Amino acid sequence: MHRAALRALELEDWTYQLLPVPPELFGETVRALPGSGFVGANVTIPHKEAALAVADEASESARAIGAVNTLSFTPEGVIRGENTDAPGLLAALPEPPTGASAVVLGAGGGARAAVWALLDAGAAEVMVWNRTPERARALCEELGGRPVSEPPGADLLINCTSVGLEAGQSAFKDLPVSADTVGSYRCVVDLVYGSGDTELASAARSRGAAVVGGLEILVCQGALAFEIWTGRSAPLSVMREGAAMV
Ligand code: NAP
Repeated sequence: MHRAALRALELEDWTYQLLPVPPELFGETVRALPGSGFVGANVTIPHKEAALAVADEASESARAIGAVNTLSFTPEGVIRGENTDAPGLLAALPEPPTGASAVVLGAGGGARAAVWALLDAGAAEVMVWNRTPERARALCEELGGRPVSEPPGADLLINCTSVGLEAGQSAFKDLPVSADTVGSYRCVVDLVYGSGDTELASAARSRGAAVVGGLEILVCQGALAFEIWTGRSAPLSVMREGAAMV
C-alpha cells in the first residue's frame, strides 16, 4: 500500500520496509532509526504502548488513547508520536458520527482508539461491551462511554475485537450478536481485515446495513501516516488497490 503510493507520487528514493523488532530492543531500535535515514515508522502489536513511551512528543489523542501507531522523526532527531487509528476510523465511516449512538465491541487498543474518536467527534452515546467486562468498565472510566453487558440497538456497531481473525472462529459464537441483530444497525464496522468480507460484515451487508471493512480503515489510517511523513496528499485509490493485493 505505501510502496504503491510512493511510486504513484514518484518518490523514487523512498521505501517502506518491514522491520520485525523484539520488544526488548524496541526503544533502542527506534532511537537508531532517524540516524539511519528513516523519516518515520508505523508501529503495530505489541509495540503501540512502547511507542508512546519512546516518543519525545505525542499528540493529545495518542496520550489519551495510550498508544502510538505512527512515529515521525524531525531533522533534529526528535521522535514524534501520533495515533492515526482514531482519525482513520472516522475517515472510513460513511458519515460523521456526530449525534449518533454506537456500540463498540472490545476493550483493547483498537477499541480505545474507537471510543476516543467517537466521543471526540460528538457521538451522542458510546456503549462498550467486552468479553472481560472489567476491561470495558476500566476503559469507560478512563475515556468515557458506558459499559454494557448486552449490546443494545444503536446507529453504529463497531467490532474492535480480534474475533474473525482466525479461520474457523465464528463471530456469532464469540460475540453477543446474531446474524439478524447485526442487520438492525445502520452501519456495521469491522476492524478485522483479511481477504473479502468477514462473517460479521457479510451478514450485515446481506441484511441491508452499510458496511465498513477493516481494510478501508487500514487504508485510511495509513493514508494519514503517509501524509505526516511525506507532506503530500495520499493517493487513496492507489493505496486501496495496493492493500487489496495483500
Ligand atoms: P487487543 O488489544 O489484543 O484486543 C483484543 C480484543 O478482542 C479484546 O477486547 C479481547 O477481549 C477481544 N477478544 C479476543 N478474543 C476474543 C474472543 N474469542 N471472544 C470475544 N472477544 C475476544 O487487539 P487490538 O489492537 O484492539 O485489535 C483488535 C482487532 O482489530 C485485531 O483484529 C486487529 O487486527 C484489528 N485492528 C485493525 C485496524 C485496522 O486498521 N483495520 C486497526 C487496529 C486494530 P478480552 O479483553 O476479554 O481479552
